[in-house]
Amino acid sequence: MEEKEKLEKSNGEILKEKLFYKAKQGYEVLDGEKIKKAYDFCEGYKKYLDNGKTEREAANEAVKILEENGFKPYEFGKKYNPGDGVYINNSGKYILAARIGEKTVDNGVNIIAAHIDSPRIDLKQRPLYEDNGFAFFKTHYYGGIKKYQWMTIPLALHGVIIKSNGESVNIKIGEEETDPVFCITDLLPHLAKDQYAKNLADAFNGEGLNILVGSRQFTDNSSEKNKEKTEKISERIKLNILNIINEKYGITESDFISAELSLVPAAKAKDVGFDRSMIGSYGQDDRVCAYPPVMALVECKNLNKTSAVILADKEEIGSEGNTSMQSHIFRHFIESMADSQNVCKSKTFMNSKCLSADVNAAFDPNYAEVYETRNAAFINNGVVITKYTGSRGKSGSSDASAEFVNYVRKIFDDNNILWQTSELGKVDQGGGGTVAAYIANLNINVVDLGVGILSMHAPFEIASKIDIYMMYEASKAFIKS
Ligand code: MN
Ligand code: MN
Repeated sequence: MEEKEKLEKSNGEILKEKLFYKAKQGYEVLDGEKIKKAYDFCEGYKKYLDNGKTEREAANEAVKILEENGFKPYEFGKKYNPGDGVYINNSGKYILAARIGEKTVDNGVNIIAAHIDSPRIDLKQRPLYEDNGFAFFKTHYYGGIKKYQWMTIPLALHGVIIKSNGESVNIKIGEEETDPVFCITDLLPHLAKDQYAKNLADAFNGEGLNILVGSRQFTDNSSEKNKEKTEKISERIKLNILNIINEKYGITESDFISAELSLVPAAKAKDVGFDRSMIGSYGQDDRVCAYPPVMALVECKNLNKTSAVILADKEEIGSEGNTSMQSHIFRHFIESMADSQNVCKSKTFMNSKCLSADVNAAFDPNYAEVYETRNAAFINNGVVITKYTGSRGKSGSSDASAEFVNYVRKIFDDNNILWQTSELGKVDQGGGGTVAAYIANLNINVVDLGVGILSMHAPFEIASKIDIYMMYEASKAFIKS
């Protein structure tokens, strides 16, 4: 009697199961095989993170993957056949890859748009100076950083210098085991009384993020006379640094003016936790949403509809400029495709669909007060559908239609994708935006989809391996839809 009662559910229990929505937890619903696939997928992802710390490097790495899989540079005006893979490399910082489908593009293009720039510390155009026994670089930070997180950690210098003769010099210092690194110093606690009294926003100022790059004077020991004469020269530490750089790269101080050099965390992507269930790394916003769709696109060989993956630059500073999502290159590509197939451009945009692939803030129990847990993303609960972003009354958001959210969730349910819904923190606590609005303005249905992460914009961001893999599976399902 007792046993039977346990097995038979009450009407209330049955109704609750039927009517309530309950988010699914990855480790409770996925089988061991899928979890292993997720962990294996993340090995490639970690390499992508380590090899692509700037937008240029991340674009390069994507091109490598695309070319290894037969994708060719897109030729405007050329007619392509179903199955062909093409890509546009826009100034080395923005990638648009596409696989041609069986149907003409006026039936719609399935687009996934992520960004490959991440918050970092850029050098100014006249960076090098000497001050009281040290040489430093002046900087201007890029994107929304909490400045204190970037102090007293090893930093690597990445970027490119274009010399006056047009020659391009790639720089990457601080990644090899034997490389030197750079850093920003901080005040010792013993003397930080005034610093402690300041609020967080005022305690560290942007102009104070100076990079320590040397402390040794230039010397000339070729003769006693030369030694004496050299000792009378001012700024000998700066001179020594310029001499080292000149010997190695053939550049002079003025070449910094036509350079793009950035300081990024020198650390590599790592598994996090005894159970290795998470990945910690710089730049997961938004490479965690860039690598999975690229891998999905190269693997989906026969498509009904044409599908495109965009890796845009400059999202972290407002998506302005020719390598950003607001660049017309995307429109030009779609229009060129429509022209080559003799179909209507407007119809092509109108019938296209897009996932704006960007991260969301995963619930962090250590800062529970800023989240509204019924509408927060949780680590290991799968990809996050974010219907709207924005701040203070959805301002600046592209609010996806109920119809399109349903369209996407049906694709995910039909393909066993683990997904959840979320908005970014409590109402009026802050907010943010993505590239969604710029795509929506082209009359394309778009919704934000991404991976929930902890410590967003920090030098070491955390994401779940299950969620990363689900981003890949979700991308595949959408590309095939
Ligand atoms: Mn982002
Ligand atoms: Mn961001």
